[in-house]
Amino acid sequence: MSLQVPKPSNGNSKKHNNRPIAVFSDFDGTIFHQDTGHVLFDKYGCGQEKREELDGSIGDTRSFREASELMWGSLTVSLDEALELLKKDLVLDDHFKPFLDFCDEQNIPFSVISAGLQPLLRGALDQFLGKERSSKINIVSNDAEIDGSNWKPLWRHDCELGHDKARSINEMKETVFDGAQPLTVFVGDGVSDLAAANHADILFARRGLKLEKYCIKNKIPYIPYDTFEDVQVELERMINAQKEDEQDNRNATANIPKNPVSGRPIALRTVSENSVPNSVLI
Ligand SMILES: [Mg+2]
Repeated sequence: MSLQVPKPSNGNSKKHNNRPIAVFSDFDGTIFHQDTGHVLFDKYGCGQEKREELDGSIGDTRSFREASELMWGSLTVSLDEALELLKKDLVLDDHFKPFLDFCDEQNIPFSVISAGLQPLLRGALDQFLGKERSSKINIVSNDAEIDGSNWKPLWRHDCELGHDKARSINEMKETVFDGAQPLTVFVGDGVSDLAAANHADILFARRGLKLEKYCIKNKIPYIPYDTFEDVQVELERMINAQKEDEQDNRNATANIPKNPVSGRPIALRTVSENSVPNSVLI
């Protein structure tokens, strides 16, 4: 796992208010409509009823991490079999691939930031995008020790969520873009995104789900979305607004009278009558 976000390849990344944009996206329920863990637990683990009971205990009698350990520990399936099931049952957001293309065209780095397990996330991206395209996506997540059909999550951070997404975002802010602070855009949907919600510069919350409800309750500014197309439209609007600002600045500079010899702008000064010698006043 790497915290390093790929740097823009041509050094010409898109800027918003002079800050380069970096997109971070949750995985389960955001890039894919389902949760990779839920799909597996229901078929090869504790089953839907027990999984919902454990889910319901989060924040009450168990932490997210404690409940998750019980769910992952209930699996009796190999990684290959798990990936086969995911290939069959997961549904990719219809506009995710075009959104990735958009990020490539605009030279905006894109990273997955997830409470899931690295081997499943990478395996699912390999299957749905192809290995070459998948390999260009940085994944920041928990890892896993999978011994045959025994699964043990290896948590990224020693905290109740297992992966403190806010901490990862802040760590990445300090390591990317040669000291310039990127404008962080986070796209998410659920409980594991709550910590990140307070730390992203621009937050997209999937309409009608827990992250949006949390934002409304806690008065956190966010932009609702249904698919990655909505995210793309909003980012395009921001980028176009930035271009217009830059054009306005160029136009303002172009209208300043220039020295015909040096081509440099002539500094315009205002003077008061008091600063002019009496001899030149009529
Ligand atoms: Mg999610």
